Amino acid sequence: MPNSLVESVTIRSQIDEQFRRAGYGWTVIIDRIETFQVAPRWLLVRIETDDGAIGWGEASLEGHAESVQGAIDGYTDLLLGQDATRIEHLWQQMTRAGFYRGGPVFGSAVSGIDHALWDLKGKVLGVPVHELLGGPVRDKVRVYGWIGGDDPSDVAAAIETQLATGLTAVKMNASGATEHLGSLAETTAILDRAGAAREVLGASGDFAIDFHGRISPGYARRLLPLLEEFHPLFVEEPVVPEMGLEVWEQVVASTAVPIATGERLYSRWDAMPVLRAGISVLQPDLAHAGGISETRRIATLAETYGVAIAPHCPLGPLALAAALQVDFASPNFLIQEQSLGIHYNAGSAELTDYLLDVSVFTFADGYIHRPTGPGLGVQIDEAEVRRAAQSPHRWRTPTWNRVDGSLAEW
Ligand SMILES: [Mg+2]
Repeated sequence: MPNSLVESVTIRSQIDEQFRRAGYGWTVIIDRIETFQVAPRWLLVRIETDDGAIGWGEASLEGHAESVQGAIDGYTDLLLGQDATRIEHLWQQMTRAGFYRGGPVFGSAVSGIDHALWDLKGKVLGVPVHELLGGPVRDKVRVYGWIGGDDPSDVAAAIETQLATGLTAVKMNASGATEHLGSLAETTAILDRAGAAREVLGASGDFAIDFHGRISPGYARRLLPLLEEFHPLFVEEPVVPEMGLEVWEQVVASTAVPIATGERLYSRWDAMPVLRAGISVLQPDLAHAGGISETRRIATLAETYGVAIAPHCPLGPLALAAALQVDFASPNFLIQEQSLGIHYNAGSAELTDYLLDVSVFTFADGYIHRPTGPGLGVQIDEAEVRRAAQSPHRWRTPTWNRVDGSLAEW
């Protein structure tokens, strides 16, 4: 933002130049939409206007990149030739004009396009997106890292590694595949992991537990109260999100542990039942829930229930950049997930691989400081993205089974 008259005049002249080049007053016309399926499991979106303005977004839907690519291809007919600066109008058209709407595939397609339009508009105007959302409400954003993979062991050593990178909070899965009602041995293993985490972190660090919906409601009611003594920051997706209001109410009522969910909810309407059930933390995914436009609204809806947001983001740099823009503009923000060092990236590609300047995601004492670059605040290494997209990933979610061979939630 301008902090002097000179800077203000400079930015104003840059804006005037953009619009002169555009030749349409405030209009810039969408001329080209491209998608890039890149390692480890991401789908990036690039939008270019007829005057050469460029915006980037991320539509990664883990395990379903091809489906989202198809949905974006379908939206191309709607978007080409339209004014790129009318973000909300285009969001409404994508989500409502096609008659069929909602769900993860459409939600992720709209998200990637929405990010790119906000990025493009911010760059045309020379301001970060959070300035367009009302300006920053905080100076820095607390982040957490993942430990331990899908079925964690050696929790203490893994936490030490994350603390050494400058983080103060971590998240882990606490179980592998679970039976409908976990045995005492399974329960003990989960409690041991929680206990090990608390011991390493002491009283001031935080850990959260993600169950990926692996726990049945009945087992959750037995297990969650036993976790209370370890004071987890929150427990995430103890049961699958589609369980509905009554089940979520029972789970929330069974324990003092704050309950979180949201990565598999794709709109304000999807979020309503769990908010009404009394969850403590809502975790919209910026790459699944209709992008910056809808997540901003979901955050405000959560605020009316006294619920904080902790955006889900085990994904790539543009999803994280978009999440940070909402975090800096949202009063009811708790903590941000990020994927540096996550098990999905290992041996494939890292969060910072497609960035020209990686310093934007530097942690200091557990926080990322406010990005001041225009748009999403990151600069994409386009040559590297185009090179990587020549070898598209085929990432798929693992299939897990219970002891008897029946399917278990992963
Ligand atoms: Mg999760």
